[in-house]
Amino acid sequence: MHTRRRFMKFSLLGSAALLTGSHSIAKSLADNIVTPVKNDPVVISTWDFGKEANAAAWEVLAKGGKALDAVETGVKVPEADPDNHSVGYGGLPDRDGRVTLDACIMDERYRCGSVMCLEHIVHPISVARMVMEKTPHVILAGDGALQFALSNGFKKENLLTPSSKKAWENWLKKEHYEPEINIENQLHGKHHHPGGVDNHDTIGMVAMDANGDISGACTTSGMAYKMHGRVGDSPVIGAGLYVDNEIGAATATGVGEEVIRIVGSHLVVELMRQGYTPEDACKKTVERMIKVNPEGAPKVQVGFLALNKKGEYGAYALQKGFTYAVRNGREERIYTVKSIY
Ligand code: ASP
Repeated sequence: MHTRRRFMKFSLLGSAALLTGSHSIAKSLADNIVTPVKNDPVVISTWDFGKEANAAAWEVLAKGGKALDAVETGVKVPEADPDNHSVGYGGLPDRDGRVTLDACIMDERYRCGSVMCLEHIVHPISVARMVMEKTPHVILAGDGALQFALSNGFKKENLLTPSSKKAWENWLKKEHYEPEINIENQLHGKHHHPGGVDNHDTIGMVAMDANGDISGACTTSGMAYKMHGRVGDSPVIGAGLYVDNEIGAATATGVGEEVIRIVGSHLVVELMRQGYTPEDACKKTVERMIKVNPEGAPKVQVGFLALNKKGEYGAYALQKGFTYAVRNGREERIYTVKSIY
């Protein structure tokens, strides 16, 4: 109840700040919010299932919490959801039947952490954060990442759920690997068909807190039925995620190979630095993918999502069907994204 009252006040505060542009008015309306409100917090994330993740992130932001805590909290929701067959627990396995997870996180001070091909851990994003905060490194991969997680109190679990196992066994009948466009949304919950050819899914999330600081997180089980050891764009800083607190942040979803070759999220941020809006920066980046791989890129889906320092957000995709979720003091909604094809 208390939390809800705070939230309602905060929403009012968000609208007041928007209408008047005056932070001092906003502050006096929010006498029970400890952190001084200099900016309207906002969180955005990939796909329809980003909505539930945003709600968890918003609880942190609305209390004046840090964007870094918000994005970690947010993406843990799909990571723990057995009905989400693309992220964390319940993620679809590689072709050997192993669920291998990729995740990265980046904060407002250019600090970053990443885990690649991590098995048996429900929350790879929290391991990535620990790599960032507790080691001199940025990336830990495979068994080294697992040993690091276990020695820091994470529990070893079986991530292959019966329905993901069934989907893999079905896939084994033909062993045909072809990424399916927009499978991410269909892979979530009731839309999932265990017998179908499910390929990939990711949540990328970026947020700005009341201090105006930006952080981001990206986590995935990668392309289903990938070769064992394959790593996509999602845990690669600059490809699946990039945060530059002076300019903004971007994240990606879709076929990671296409994103890596143009270092997509970093490119989006650099285009915003040149003055492009988030949507136009994402569009130019998608166009670059087609330019560098005119044969391959048009056949797959990739979407970019970006937030700038003014709190403006936007996205663009190769194909129709990419969606993203937004939560701030004014709106909680899902946007359908424009695309090249
Ligand atoms: N980007 C992820 C990867 O390539 C997959 C996805 O977003 O669906 O591993």
